[in-house]
Amino acid sequence: MTCTMRLAYDAEAIALGAKLLRAGKLVAFPTETVYGLGANALDGQAVEGIFVAKGRPADNPLIVHVGSLGQVDALVDTIPPLAHRLMRAFWPGPLTLVLGRSHAVPCVVSGGLETVAVRMPDHPVALALLRAARVPVAAPSANVSGRPSPTTADHVLADLGGRIAAVVDGGHCPLGVESTVLDVTQCPPVILRPGGVTLEQLSEYTPLGTVTDQDHASLRRSPGQRYGHYSPRTPLVLVEGESRQEIAEEITKRITRCQRRGLRAGVLATQENAQRYGDIPILVLGSYSDSQIVSARLFGALRQVDEWGVDVVYCEALPEVGLGRAIMDRLRRAAAGRDGKGG
Ligand code: AMP
Ligand code: MG
Repeated sequence: MTCTMRLAYDAEAIALGAKLLRAGKLVAFPTETVYGLGANALDGQAVEGIFVAKGRPADNPLIVHVGSLGQVDALVDTIPPLAHRLMRAFWPGPLTLVLGRSHAVPCVVSGGLETVAVRMPDHPVALALLRAARVPVAAPSANVSGRPSPTTADHVLADLGGRIAAVVDGGHCPLGVESTVLDVTQCPPVILRPGGVTLEQLSEYTPLGTVTDQDHASLRRSPGQRYGHYSPRTPLVLVEGESRQEIAEEITKRITRCQRRGLRAGVLATQENAQRYGDIPILVLGSYSDSQIVSARLFGALRQVDEWGVDVVYCEALPEVGLGRAIMDRLRRAAAGRDGKGG
């Protein structure tokens, strides 16, 4: 059992965090997407510590974070011209590129794959820490495997307190969902995980492959997508429908059915529908038409519902465009149950 330090973000915290990383310790830090659990990516033993602390399956590869473009060369075999264009367009930012792995990257980082996932995060704390550490940092989301990803330092400490050296507290992560993972070793490239950079934004730069994450080929390429993830402890039911009215009617029916059986229900609702469910626990995710607010609140909400003490939580589906694709991907996984934890 380690005593985990909570470091308020300042120059001293960055210097200490960087020193800990260089010494092979685990340090969690905020990015624009979610909090990451960092270890020196070139230190195989330190990276193994990430898998132990999270309870993450060894075949679920990690994303390597860099603080400068110059750090990428040593991590990969080649950088195709398209990858260069995407880095210029979206870095620092929530786009992870899967490239051929160089021998400098320990096998454990990539879960045995011949590729490596790389990104430069767009957050002052993450960039300051990466630049001070002067090593690439492998950093999956800083949650216990299977739990919702952390968007505050409190979430990190709730899951990993006592298992890691430190967390740098940089407040709430602004985007709130993870990066888009794009495999650029394929032509055309393939989205392995929808995330903060949207399909619409990427399509402006390149035609995209049609493989979806339901396909076996894609699952082989991105093992993380195979595992359950993001689930609250309370059963979550995602209710989809043709319109937001239809969704509200369906949830209302289900709440009544629950109440007849003596069960308690709660709802993760849109602002537009929140008034329709009566006197039960409700958490407003945001407006139906504002996916940015919803993504920022999503993972916090998936943790908060466990405080309600209800038997079931119904969640309204959101439109699957733009950031809505990443939100719906996370909600489907959260609703799929708590088996086969992986992330
Ligand atoms: P996390 O950082 O916990 O949000 O998860 C990282 C995600 O990136 C998982 O879905 C992994 O499967 C994916 N990933 C990481 N490295 C690779 C890689 N080399 N090839 C394909 N997917 C990867
Ligand atoms: Mg994760």
